[in-house]
Amino acid sequence: MSDNTAQLKGQQRDGDTSPGVAGYVDVHAHLIHDDFAGEEDAVASRARSAGLDLVIVNGLEPKSNRAVLELCGRHEHLQPALGIYPVDAIGTRIDHASWQHPFPPPAVFDVDEEIDFIASVASQLIAIGECGLDRYWITSEMAEQERVLRRLCEVALAHDLPVILHSRKAELRTFEILQDMGVERADFHCFGGKLKLAKRIADAGYYLSIPPVVVRAESFQRMAAALPLDRILTETDCPYMGPDKGTRNEPANVPRGVQAIAEARGAEEHAVRHQIRANARALFGF
Ligand SMILES: [Zn+2]
Repeated sequence: MSDNTAQLKGQQRDGDTSPGVAGYVDVHAHLIHDDFAGEEDAVASRARSAGLDLVIVNGLEPKSNRAVLELCGRHEHLQPALGIYPVDAIGTRIDHASWQHPFPPPAVFDVDEEIDFIASVASQLIAIGECGLDRYWITSEMAEQERVLRRLCEVALAHDLPVILHSRKAELRTFEILQDMGVERADFHCFGGKLKLAKRIADAGYYLSIPPVVVRAESFQRMAAALPLDRILTETDCPYMGPDKGTRNEPANVPRGVQAIAEARGAEEHAVRHQIRANARALFGF
C-alpha cells in the first residue's frame, strides 16, 4: 500500500470528507536569497515532491520583491508576499560605515516609493510581508520602523490582504500596532517572545507560524504544545531556521516540522497536518 493510500484510508476512518490528502504549507520562505541562487526552480520542485501545495515566498526590499513576483509566476504552488524588512526600512538612516553585523548592511532605497509599488501590484499578492519591527539587530529608528509597518498595514487593509510579520524583540509593540490599526488577518512568523504573549496573540485571532527548527528547539516545542491548533501555521524562514544545525533550510523540510509539532502535542501527524492546511486556507484563501 502506498503512503497516499494509507493516508486516504486514514482520512476515511476519521470521517473526513474533504477532497484528497491535506498538503503541507510553508507560509514564510526566502527563496530569493544568495544561498538559493540558480537553484530556485529545483527547490520549488523539491517542495512539490515533498507534498507542499503552498509556499509563500516573501520579499524584503525592491530587488527581492521583484524577483519574488517573477519566480512565483513560474510555479503554481509558489505565491508572492511583498514587503519591507524592518532593517531595510531604515537603510537610509543608519551609518553603513560602522555596520558590524554578520550580514551586509541594509538596502538603500526610497521606502515610500516601494510601498507605492507594493500597493500597485497588490492584486497579484497573497499577503503583505515580510514587514514588522526589529529591536534585535537595530535598536534605533523605532519610530520610522513603526511608520513603515503602519503604511504597509494600510496597504493590506485597503486590498483585504493578510500581513506576515517579523517581530523580533518587539513582539508586544507589533501586536499593539495591529490592534490599533484594526488588522484582523495576520501571521507572526518565527515568534520569539514569551509564551504568555503568544497565547494572547492567538486569542486575538492571529496565527503563529513554526519553523522546522522545532525538531531541536524547545521554545518552539513549548509553543507548539500550548497554542490552540487552529492558530498554528508552518513556515521555514529558509535558508534559516532549519532542522539540522548549520545546514541550509528549504520548504521540503516542512514535513519534519509538522511531525515535531504533532509529537509536542501528542497528536496524530495526519490530524495536525490537516488542521494546519485548513488554517492556511482560512488566512490566505489558498
Ligand atoms: Zn523572514
